[in-house]
Amino acid sequence: MKTGAIDIANASLLAGKPAGGLVVTDESFAIIRRLKTPIWIYDIDNSRIVFANKTACTLWQAEDEAKLCARDLRQDMSAMVRKRLKQYQFDFAERDASFNELWTLYPNGTPTSVMVVYTGIRLADGRMGMHCEVVDHKDDAPENLRSAEALLHTDVMITLYSIDGALLYMNPAARNAAMSSQHLFADIFLSSADHLEVMQALLGHGEHRIVARVCTGAGARWHDISVKRCNDAVTGEPAALVTAIDVTELKIARDKARYLADRDQLTGCYNRAFLLSHIENLSKDGAGKCALLYFDVDKFKQINDALGHEMGDVVLKQLAVRARKMIRGDDMIARLGGDEFVLLLRDVADLDGLKERVAQLRQAFSEPINHATTHVNVTVSAGVSIFEPQEADFTTILSNADIALYISKQNGRDQVTYFDDNIGTAVKERRQIEADIKRGIEKGEFIVHYQPRVDLRTKTIVSAEALVRWNHPENGMIMPDRFIPICEETGMIEALGQWVLDVGCQQAITWAQQGLDTEVSINISPRQFQNDELLGALRHYAKKPGFPRKKIELEITENVLIGDHETIAQKLHEIAALGYRIAIDDFGTGYSNLSYISRFPLNCIKIDKSFISGLPDTGPIIRLILTLAKQINAISVAEGVETRAEYDWLVESGCDQIQGYYLSRPVPIDAFFQSGATPNQITV
Ligand code: C2E
Ligand code: MG
Ligand code: MG
Repeated sequence: MKTGAIDIANASLLAGKPAGGLVVTDESFAIIRRLKTPIWIYDIDNSRIVFANKTACTLWQAEDEAKLCARDLRQDMSAMVRKRLKQYQFDFAERDASFNELWTLYPNGTPTSVMVVYTGIRLADGRMGMHCEVVDHKDDAPENLRSAEALLHTDVMITLYSIDGALLYMNPAARNAAMSSQHLFADIFLSSADHLEVMQALLGHGEHRIVARVCTGAGARWHDISVKRCNDAVTGEPAALVTAIDVTELKIARDKARYLADRDQLTGCYNRAFLLSHIENLSKDGAGKCALLYFDVDKFKQINDALGHEMGDVVLKQLAVRARKMIRGDDMIARLGGDEFVLLLRDVADLDGLKERVAQLRQAFSEPINHATTHVNVTVSAGVSIFEPQEADFTTILSNADIALYISKQNGRDQVTYFDDNIGTAVKERRQIEADIKRGIEKGEFIVHYQPRVDLRTKTIVSAEALVRWNHPENGMIMPDRFIPICEETGMIEALGQWVLDVGCQQAITWAQQGLDTEVSINISPRQFQNDELLGALRHYAKKPGFPRKKIELEITENVLIGDHETIAQKLHEIAALGYRIAIDDFGTGYSNLSYISRFPLNCIKIDKSFISGLPDTGPIIRLILTLAKQINAISVAEGVETRAEYDWLVESGCDQIQGYYLSRPVPIDAFFQSGATPNQITV
C-alpha cells in the first residue's frame, strides 16, 4: 500500500452498501470515531459523505452521521469544485497524491474555512474516494477565507514551483489547464529560449513577465506569464510563483491586426513602414552585409491601361509570389506602392553569389503571367544598394537603390544597376543641375527663340514655333534637350512651361496688334498636359478681349495621347472649344493608337524630322502620314527640312507646310522676319 492511502475495502473497516447506506461495524474503527480531529470519507462520484466521525459531524453541523451521509453535497458545490475533485480522484489513483488545502465548507449554507489533508481511499466497491482530515480550523479568519476562496475560484492559473523547477502546487485553474499533474517548470515552454529568458530574469532580479507559447492539456496555447521569486510557505525553500492567463484568442486577434497593419493588402508583402523599422533593427539582429533591391515593372501603366486593372493586380500578386519563392529565411519582400517592390537580402558578402540570385529572380519574373485567357510577359528594372547594417540609414539606402533603378530605366529598362560611388557622383551632379535650373528659372535666365513654319503653296511664314533656351551666365546658351527632360521629371516643367506659354501668347498678341497673321506654336510637355493648371491658364487667356486664340497652336507629343483615352479626348475637346489649335508633334515616333487619332480634335500633324532626314527611303511612310492628315482634315507639317532635295520632294508630295534649317534656324524674335524678303515672305 502506498503512503497516504487507506484501502478500506481490504482493511474491512467499512462494509455494506456505499453512499449513505454504509454501516460501520468494525469495533476498532470506533477509535477514529472518538478522535477529536474531524475526519470524513467522501464519495466523489456521488457527492456524498459515506463516513464521518463525531467532530466531523459537528463541523458539518449535522445531528448525526446518518443525517450527514444523507446530505446531497452537490447542491452547495460549484461546478469548478466538482471538476477539481474529479481531478483529485484521478491524481489519487495515478500518483498517490495528497493535498493540503484551505477549504471552504458550507455546512447548512454557512461558509467555514478549514485546512484539510486529502488522501485517496478505496471505497468498498473499489472506486476511488477521498479521505479528509482537518488539520486546522480557521472559521474565525475571514481574510484567509476570502483569499482562499479567491485562489480556488479564480480563472488565473497559479502554480508554485521549487526554484529548480519541481511542481509544488497548482490552484484549480492551473490544474485544469496543465498538460499533466506532474511536470517541471521547463516542460511548459514550447521554446527553450523562453524558459531560459524567464530563468535568467528570475535568478537575476527576481521576477519576469513574458507572453509565451506553452504546452497545456488543450494543446499549445499562448499564456501571459508572470513569475516571481518567493519562498514555499511549507518548507521555507526558495520557490517560483507563476501566475498565468490564457491570452491565445487575444494574441491571435492582435497578430491578425498587426499582420494587417504591417502588410500590403493586395500582395501580402510587408509595407514601407514595416520595412523601415526592420532595416533599422538589422544591426541589433547581428545581420552581415545586406542588399536592398528596388524594382518595378517596366511600362506597368501600359499593362493597366491596355489589359485593365484586374490584370495589373494579377501581375503584382504574381511577382510577389515569385519573389517570395526566391528569398531565404530572414530575407524580406515589401511593396512600397504601385508597382514598386523592395527585396531585402541578408548576408550578401559574396557579390557574385548576389548577382547570381538576382539573375535567378529576373529569370523567374520573365516567365509569362497567365490569367484566364490573358497572358502577359513583363520585364522589371532594378536598382541594388549594398550596405552594412551598422551604417543603416533607411532614407539613404532606399534613395541609393532608387537612383540605381533610375539608371536602369534610363539605360533602356529590363536591367539591374548596382549603386556605387560613380553613380553617386553622377547623381550629385544631376542634383546640382536641378538646383541650377531652379535658380535659372527664378532668375529669368531662359529665353525663347522662334523658328518659322512656311506654307509651301503661298511661300509665306504662317507660324513660329516657340523654342526655349537657357542663357546660362557661365555656360552660355544651353539647348532644351539638356534641361527639358530634367524639368519634366522633377516637375519644374510646370513653371517653365507656363512661362513659355505666357511669352508665346504675348508674342501672338503683339503680332495681332501689328496686323500680322502669324501663328505661335507652343510645346506642351506630357506632365504639363496632365496638370489641370494648363486648362486654367488657357481659359484665363481665352477670356481676354481680343485675344488671338485661333493664332495659338499647342504642340503635344504622341506620348500624351497614350493612357485613358476618354479623359484625354475630353481635355483636347475642351482646349479646342476654347478656340486653340492643337498639333501632334514628332508624329511617327510614338505609339499612339491610330484608331483614336480620328477622335481627337487635331488641326495639324508634324512629321518627325527623322523621316525627313531618312528620305528617300522613308518616302512611303511620309506619304502615309500625309494621307492620314488629309483624312482627318489636319494640316501636314514636315519638320527638320535641311536640304533643297527634301524641300522639293515635300512640295511634290503635297505636304502643306515645312519647318527646318533649310529655311531658318530658331532665332531670337528680333531676327525672326529678317530671313524673308518681306515680313512674312521668304525666298526659297
Ligand atoms: P520639337 O518641338 O520637335 O522642336 C523642333 C526641334 O527641332 C528644335 O530643337 C529645332 O531647333 C530642331 N530643328 C528644327 N529644324 C531642324 C533641322 O532642320 N534639323 C535639325 N536637326 N533640327 C531641327 P530644339 O530647339 O533643340 O528643341 C528640342 C525639343 O525640345 C523640341 O522638339 C521640344 O520637344 C522641346 N522643347 C523646346 N522648347 C520647349 C518648350 O518650351 N516646352 C517644351 N515642353 N518642350 C520644348
Ligand atoms: Mg515642337
Ligand atoms: Mg518636333
